[in-house]
Amino acid sequence: MTPVSQAVNHAVEIRDLHKSFGKLQVLKGIDFAVDPGQVVCVIGPSGSGKSTLLRCVNLLEEPTSGRVVVNGVELTHRDVDIDAARRGVGMVFQQFNLFPHMTALQNVMIAQRRVLKRDKAEAERIARENLEKVGIAEKCDSYPAQLSGGQQQRVAIARALAMSPALMLFDEPTSALDPELVGDVLTVMRKLAEEGMTMLVVTHEMAFARDVADRVVFMDGGVIVEDGTPEQVIGAPRNERTQTFLRRVL
Ligand code: ADP
Ligand code: MG
Repeated sequence: MTPVSQAVNHAVEIRDLHKSFGKLQVLKGIDFAVDPGQVVCVIGPSGSGKSTLLRCVNLLEEPTSGRVVVNGVELTHRDVDIDAARRGVGMVFQQFNLFPHMTALQNVMIAQRRVLKRDKAEAERIARENLEKVGIAEKCDSYPAQLSGGQQQRVAIARALAMSPALMLFDEPTSALDPELVGDVLTVMRKLAEEGMTMLVVTHEMAFARDVADRVVFMDGGVIVEDGTPEQVIGAPRNERTQTFLRRVL
């Protein structure tokens, strides 16, 4: 007899997620899952709910209803230890949010020390490793104001990676950068993807989505309109709203 099929262990599983701010319904029933090691890019017009979706995945926003399961932990369960669950999720924002009075190295050490309680030597070793990984080992002792936007964003990525996350969320990580600095950040993200990091990336970088994503999700008006391979969603969109959006951005 065939065994009962086992539940698939998704890195992220979202079921019928709704989020409202007062009367404004922003997410209107989102369903999707990300498998371990997958890179999923979320695209869509401004105001479609992309950031809200990402923020629900690490409970920066509390969903109005629905289920969010991350690394096997149901974040929407009453008894969940939210801080513990969040620790497994790294987030990189459009604005880098570095501490201005701390060096790059200190920025990458602080949460390791405070949240993970790593000792100083270990936190420093892991910080240096990750600053090297994002290609700015030589900037360890620089303050954010002494770094370009691209370098600051790479410090922010190193800071997230230093927490050993099982999943990385990126919300338009290159949108605040001068065009000539975008490539360095995308190169780091591409390397992470190749190393097998599970990533959920909101981006307007269609070339990145096409080359790096396993799946592309197109959102509009708080729903997922299309979800498929980059070839399907970017290359041959079936929905008219997707077609219109892509005509504007490509
Ligand atoms: P996107 O990232 O796709 O541009 P957002 O998720 O940021 O979209 O926003 C979707 C909608 O939700 C917008 O209309 C926005 O104004 C609204 N919104 C987002 N956050 C809040 C909030 N904290 N309070 C009220 N409205 C919000
Ligand atoms: Mg946004």
